[in-house]
Amino acid sequence: MVPGVRLVVLGKQGAGKGTQCVRLSHHYVVPHVSTGDMLRAAVKSGDGLGSKVKENMDSGELLGDDLIMEMVAERLGEPDARARGFILDGCPRTTHQAEVLASLMAPDDIDAAVDIEVPTIQAMRRLAGRRVCVDCGSNYSVSAPPKSGTWICDVCGGEVIQREDDIEDAISRRLELYERQTAPLIDWYTSRTQLAKVNGIGSPDAVLRRIIRSVEDKRQQRGGSR
Ligand code: AMP
Repeated sequence: MVPGVRLVVLGKQGAGKGTQCVRLSHHYVVPHVSTGDMLRAAVKSGDGLGSKVKENMDSGELLGDDLIMEMVAERLGEPDARARGFILDGCPRTTHQAEVLASLMAPDDIDAAVDIEVPTIQAMRRLAGRRVCVDCGSNYSVSAPPKSGTWICDVCGGEVIQREDDIEDAISRRLELYERQTAPLIDWYTSRTQLAKVNGIGSPDAVLRRIIRSVEDKRQQRGGSR
């Protein structure tokens, strides 16, 4: 069996992170841990956390580091992630989150932080056209809708909608926040020789192959696999 992996996946919104994370989690047989999905599930269930975060999420604001890292620590402490690793999607978003994550991993560390690179204009175009299933989170777009030809999910039959934070104002705000707050992570992971930069332009299969190749290169440089 393919060895497990501990991966952080970076890249501006619309870089194809969600799509590649699902593929990577199948390839490495590890859970896909998406902070955005976990938060949206909390909002949907209407629990205490959900009502606390809904407003900030709808406007595209980042949530507090402590709240996020507590949620991530709990998820990464579960047996599946402890045994084989994880694909972490949407976190870290700030260098403080990265520091907390590194301390959670100690004395080991993540295998790599993958940065999927796409030009901003292309990311904006993808986000404006993105549609998601409200029930299972499957991704579609106006150019690749569900096979039924209606906005009903092929996977689970749920309703496929445009996310509230994928409207134009919130998209600009999220991309601006990305540049300001999250881009420094690239420097942080580069200085720790953990950054694996991958060109995100091309078919999902081509991008996946590039990611796997660069993760394996990183693993070799860092001295073997898990
Ligand atoms: P995403 O689906 O990753 O774009 O996340 C949707 C929203 O959830 C973001 O716009 C933030 O409001 C919140 N969020 C998700 N992950 C984080 C994080 N690591 N730090 C802060 N806020 C987050």
